[in-house]
Amino acid sequence: MLFADVILPRPLPLATLTYIVPDEMQSLVSKGFRVIVPLGERKLCTGIVARLHSDKPTGFKLKEIHSLVDSKPIVTQNQLSLWEWISFYYICPLGEVCYVALPSKFKLDSETTISLGETFSAWENLSPTEMKIVGFLQHDPSKKIKALEKAVGIKNVLPHIHSMVFKGAISTDEAIRKKIAAKTEKFDLPLGTAEAQRKPYALNAYQQEAFLSIKQSFQQKQVCLLHGVTSSGKTEIYIHLIEEMLQDGKQVLYLVPEIALSTQLTQRLRGVFGTKLGVYHSKINDSERAEIWQKMLSPRPYGIIVGVRSSLFIPFSKLGLIIVDEEHETSYKQQDPSPRYHARDTAIVMAQQSGAKTLLGSATPSFESYYNAQTGKYGLVTLSKRFEEIELPEIRLENTAELRRKRKMKSILSPSLIELIQRALADGEQVILFRNRRGFAPLLECNSCAWTPKCKRCDVALTYHKFLNELKCHYCNATYKIPKECPVCHETQIDVLGQGTEQVEEEALNLFPDAVSARMDTDTTRTKNSAGKIIADFEDKKIQILIGTQMLAKGLDFENVSVVGIISADSLLNHPDFRSYERGFQMMLQTSGRAGRKNKRGTVVIQTSDPAQAIYRFVENNDYRGFFLAQMAERKNFRYPPFFRLISIVLKHKKEDVAEAASQRMAEALRQTLSDRVLGPAKPLVSRIQSYYIREILLKLEAGLPPSQLRENIIHAEQKMRKNADYKYIILSYNVDPL
Ligand code: ADP
Ligand code: ZN
Ligand code: ZN
Repeated sequence: MLFADVILPRPLPLATLTYIVPDEMQSLVSKGFRVIVPLGERKLCTGIVARLHSDKPTGFKLKEIHSLVDSKPIVTQNQLSLWEWISFYYICPLGEVCYVALPSKFKLDSETTISLGETFSAWENLSPTEMKIVGFLQHDPSKKIKALEKAVGIKNVLPHIHSMVFKGAISTDEAIRKKIAAKTEKFDLPLGTAEAQRKPYALNAYQQEAFLSIKQSFQQKQVCLLHGVTSSGKTEIYIHLIEEMLQDGKQVLYLVPEIALSTQLTQRLRGVFGTKLGVYHSKINDSERAEIWQKMLSPRPYGIIVGVRSSLFIPFSKLGLIIVDEEHETSYKQQDPSPRYHARDTAIVMAQQSGAKTLLGSATPSFESYYNAQTGKYGLVTLSKRFEEIELPEIRLENTAELRRKRKMKSILSPSLIELIQRALADGEQVILFRNRRGFAPLLECNSCAWTPKCKRCDVALTYHKFLNELKCHYCNATYKIPKECPVCHETQIDVLGQGTEQVEEEALNLFPDAVSARMDTDTTRTKNSAGKIIADFEDKKIQILIGTQMLAKGLDFENVSVVGIISADSLLNHPDFRSYERGFQMMLQTSGRAGRKNKRGTVVIQTSDPAQAIYRFVENNDYRGFFLAQMAERKNFRYPPFFRLISIVLKHKKEDVAEAASQRMAEALRQTLSDRVLGPAKPLVSRIQSYYIREILLKLEAGLPPSQLRENIIHAEQKMRKNADYKYIILSYNVDPL
C-alpha cells in the first residue's frame, strides 16, 4: 500500500500527517502535489505531499486522500527542503512555514471565504455542478466554503472550488479586497510588458575590479560580501553579474528592503532586463502572487526576481545567484508572526541547497557578516571609491549640551545647521533631516508631578500625535484623548517632552516657511504607494526639506541633497540593547551617504550632547573596520553575537503570576540540559502588551553546539512545562537570532 505524508498549511505540532493513497491515484500523484484530505470529522483541507512511502504508521486509523488538485507538482523539491530547514532552524511547525509560503489561492480549506471572479465570463467552461455553485454565489456573493457546502447541498465541495479558482470563476477573499485597493492606486505591475532597451552601463575601473574579485571569490566560496561605500555603484555591479547568469541560463533572486522597490531601482532593472524581470513587493495581491508562482513553474519562468524577503518562497528551477542588497537591514528579519526567519540567512541556505551562490552587499555590513568575511568563511570584496569619485561628505559634530549651556539652542536645530539649510535652500539644493523614531517619541508629562499617560493594556507611555491631537499606543495602536488635567494632582499644565518627526517638521515650517517640507515615517507611508510618491516628489524637487525616520537611511539615492542633519544622535545610541552602537553607526553612515553632489562636497551635521564618544571618531573617518574591531572585544567579553548565538523565548499570559510561574518552570527545565546558557526569566522592557503579561528567557549558545540536540532539548523543556494544566493557555514563541 502507498502512503503520503502531507503538510497542512496550519500550525499543527506534527510536521506532516499520513494518509492512504487510493489505488486509482497511485500512478498520478507525486511529491509536491496538492491534495485534498479530510481533517477531523467533517472538514476537508488542501495540503502538499511531502513524501510517498510504504511504511504503514501504526497506532491510529488512517484516512484516504480525498482527491488530487494538480496534475503536476506545485511545490518543488528545493522548496520542500527549504521549508524543512526553516521549520527546523527557527523552531516552528512545518505547517506554519507552508502557510506563509503558499499564496492563499493554493491552500483553500473549509474556512476560506470565496467570491465570484469579477471579470469571469467563460461560463461554457464550467461543469453543471460548478454552474450550480455560481448560481448560489450570485445571490450571496461572499461566503465561507463550509457555509456554501451547506447551502448548495453538495458534499465535499472543495475540489470543485479548486477547479473554479483555476478557471478564474472564483477568487479568494484576499484577492478581492486587495483588488479594490489596487484600483485606487496604480502600482508598478509585476508582469510588465516593457522590452529591454538598455544595455548595462560600462563599469568603471574600481567596479570592474570588484566584479572580477566577486567572481573569483565564488570559485572557492559559497558566499561573498561586497563592502562598498554608499554611491560606489554596487547596483551596477549586480546588473553585470545578473547579465552573466542569464546568459548562462541561470536565474537570479535579488533581495532588497521594501523601500528600495519604491525607487528608481525597478525602472533601472526593467530597462535592462525587460520582461525577464519579475517584481515582488510585500503589498502584492494574492492573485499576482499566484500568477508569479505559476509562471516560475512554467517552461518560461522569469530570469530575475527582484523582491522583498518573502520572495524567498517563490519556486526557482535554475537558481544561480541570490543577491542580498543592504544585507545589514533589520527588516530582513521577520518579527511576527512565526516563522521568524532572517531572509539573508535563509537566502544563504537556499542558495546552497540549489547549488547557487550568494552575494551580500552593504556600505555598513552587519557584524555577523563582516565577522564571517574576516574569518574566511565568506569572501570579502571592498569598494571604497564613490562613483565618479564624488567626495564623501564633511561630518560636523554639534555639541548640543554646550550650546544649551551657552543658551544658543533656540530651536531643536542648532544655529549652524539652520544656517547651512538656509544656504542650501538659497542655492536650490535639498536637505534631509533625520530623526530616529525609536528614541523618545513625544510624550506628555504633568508639569508638577511628572505623571505621564500610559496605555491601559500595555506597559508603555503613550505617544503624543500633534497633528491628530490624540495620544497613541505604539504597541497596540489604541488611541486616547488628551487629558485636560493630571489625574493625580489635577495640574492643568501638561507639557510635551521629546522630539519626534512631527516636531521637526513643525520646526522646519517655522524656520523655513518658503520651502516645501515633507515627512516620511510609518504614519505618512501607510498606504500602498505613499512612500514612492514622497520619494518621487523629492526627486522632482517638489519638496526641498525631507524629514524622516530610519526609513530614509535605506539605500535611497538623491543627487541634489547637500545637507543632512541628524537631529539627535544620542537617542540612536541610548538603547538598552547590545546592538545599539552597531545600529547607530550604520544609521549615521547610511544617512550621511545621502549627501553629496557631483561638483560639491556635502555636509552632514550630527547633533549630540556627547561628541567626545569614540564612535564619532569612526563616523568622522568613515572607518567601518576600525569601529568593527573596537566593538568585537566587547561582544566577545559579554558573550554576544557574532561569537555566541541567541535564542529568545517569550511566554505570555493574561495573569501575571501564571506567566511568571510558567517561565520559571520552563527556565528550570532548560537548565537541566543547557545549564548556565539559560538567562532569566526576566521582565522585558515592555512587560505587558495588549493585556498579556510577558516574560523572556534568553539562551546564549556557543558556536558548534549540535543544532538537532539543542532543538530537542528546547522542545523537551517546553513539553515539560506544559505538563502542568495551569499553563495550558501560555502563549510561547521562539525567536532564533533575534534582532
Ligand atoms: P550604491 O548602491 O553603491 O550606493 P548606486 O548603485 O546607487 O550606489 O550608484 C550610485 C549612482 O551612480 C547611481 O546614480 C548610478 O546610476 C550611478 N552609477 C554607478 N555606476 C555607474 C556606471 N558604471 N555608469 C554610469 N552610472 C553609474
Ligand atoms: Zn500631576
Ligand atoms: Zn497599548
